[in-house]
Amino acid sequence: MRDFSSRMTRRTFVGSAVVLPALAGLLLAETATAQAKGSKAQFKYQSTPNNGHKCSQCTFFVPGSSATASGTCKIVDGSISPTGWCTAFSAKG
Ligand code: SF4
Repeated sequence: MRDFSSRMTRRTFVGSAVVLPALAGLLLAETATAQAKGSKAQFKYQSTPNNGHKCSQCTFFVPGSSATASGTCKIVDGSISPTGWCTAFSAKG
């Protein structure tokens, strides 16, 4: 009986040593995917406003050094004009 439980413990430990790093790798891959930005083409980005909507009014916009300087976007890759627009536009609340 004692042998069985010690074997199970060893088996459980060995199984954990194999499974846990694999799970950690999957979680890291998932996080990297979640943080990856989309391309401008993917979101049909344009450097001009659309029906009065522009990046500077969008919740995803990260302003540059001044009101007119290009900034970045939390979901679209690359330099983003404050007067730009894309299909993911979401007005600040
Ligand atoms: S989601 Fe689109 S509209 Fe909003 S800041 Fe990013 S590029 Fe501009």
